[in-house]
Amino acid sequence: MNCFYHPTITSVASCVDCGKGLCQDCANRYNTPICITCNHRRIKSEKQSILKELIITLIAGGVLTIFYMFSTQETSDVEYSTLQNIFTFIIVFYSGASIVAGWKTLTAITPNIFLFLPIIGWILFFMIKLFIASLIGWFMLPIRWIRKTLRWKELNKIEAIP
Ligand SMILES: [Zn+2]
Ligand SMILES: [Zn+2]
Repeated sequence: MNCFYHPTITSVASCVDCGKGLCQDCANRYNTPICITCNHRRIKSEKQSILKELIITLIAGGVLTIFYMFSTQETSDVEYSTLQNIFTFIIVFYSGASIVAGWKTLTAITPNIFLFLPIIGWILFFMIKLFIASLIGWFMLPIRWIRKTLRWKELNKIEAIP
């Protein structure tokens, strides 16, 4: 088999995703022997999943903020300053957004166990996970997004490889 990109050169490896022949140069283009098309497909789907998490994070923060706004509208008898209000909204938004980061972290570190639980068990499991997620999310939100930003830049760099 010859290289897909260089038909006159014998291939030394094949693309891990589609099996196309790759010559020495083409096989060393990325960390894994993978063809340009397949690698770009992988990059695209990884970027999409980062964007998806960003959207879910913003929605979670937004939903909690709106919920908070409505729940405090009737009960507030103390007048807060604008600065206090802004600060509170930031905290509430951050809390909502951090649940997503905490949840994703928990999902990533817990093995894929399938438990046979009655429905009440699932609800309890969900509540416990949500509770832990909201705690660790406070730390994980910035960590996750720093890492994701760096990864995004790395993906752009890989995409630019000729
Ligand atoms: Zn391929
Ligand atoms: Zn080649």
